[in-house]
Amino acid sequence: MARKNGSNAFSPDPDQMTLWPDISGNAINGLGETAKRNPSPVYWQEQPEKIPHGVLQKWFYRRNANPAMDAMRAERQAVIDAPLADIAPYAVQHSPEEWTTAVKRAGAENHADLTGVARMRPEWVFEGEEARGEFIVMIGVEMDYTEMSEAPELRAGVEVLKQYTRAAKAAKGLANWIRSQGHWAEPLTGPMKGKVTMIPPALVCGFGELGKHGSIINRRFGSNFRLSAVLTDLPLTPDAPDDFGADGFCRNCRVCSDACPPDAIFEEKQTVRGEQKWYVDFDKCLPYFNETYGCGICISVCPWSRPGVTDNLLVKLARRKAP
Ligand code: SF4
Ligand code: SF4
Repeated sequence: MARKNGSNAFSPDPDQMTLWPDISGNAINGLGETAKRNPSPVYWQEQPEKIPHGVLQKWFYRRNANPAMDAMRAERQAVIDAPLADIAPYAVQHSPEEWTTAVKRAGAENHADLTGVARMRPEWVFEGEEARGEFIVMIGVEMDYTEMSEAPELRAGVEVLKQYTRAAKAAKGLANWIRSQGHWAEPLTGPMKGKVTMIPPALVCGFGELGKHGSIINRRFGSNFRLSAVLTDLPLTPDAPDDFGADGFCRNCRVCSDACPPDAIFEEKQTVRGEQKWYVDFDKCLPYFNETYGCGICISVCPWSRPGVTDNLLVKLARRKAP
């Protein structure tokens, strides 16, 4: 499969394009809208018939039917379907600082490679959904770079599913631990759209900065990780954002946009629901994504994702910032 751009190397399967709905996914995402509003579900819906692009989601599953993918999906679903622990009758009391330390330790003991805390904001809740909880605990799980460097081939697709399974285990395990302490907690697992959009709280809780490819760049894992989360009323101390210079780096880098076969990555930030940010053209990305086990090229080619490279990049950025 060709990895280099792009724009003339890929022609979508007509079978897929005949299913394309009348509405653009970019319009659903709010591209070009200057007023702030809550996000609308555009893809990865538990009930795909409820969204315009749901018919393409079903096509993705038909197109990428494969025993390894199916086995991994079944494992993830078993984790998601496992019942949550009852909330213990006596609520343990600690200070927010003590709880935050304990939550991060419990996250690490339950598969999380990253754990961060943000105070929940109403604007993160998907249109039509309601979410309880004063805090959201974000979880990141690292993917295997060797497997992801095979993107857009099957091995990368299987690795993504494997890590979403681990992310689901982490969210369920952490939620169950909080519940065992006598406090309410609800896990949110990807990639299916839950109640809350996950990238904004992950940025706020210090997981990193949004990259040109529309994924987070973390100072340890680059973009080579997946997210899940836990909503809770436990008193916690929020973490601070971690702006280490990735946003500025993206302004002078074109690695992902040059590598994207359907040329879906904008070179400039776009206005999306009242915010200027990096954005990927949904209508260009999705046909390629759907035909290639979920693609993943932009994540795997990003220099920050390559193991052993982030430390050097951080040193270079720190030198540039120095007076
Ligand atoms: S996932 Fe989408 S944006 Fe990223 S390289 Fe593939 S087609 Fe391009
Ligand atoms: S490949 Fe370059 S431009 Fe793209 S997200 Fe990574 S650092 Fe930013």
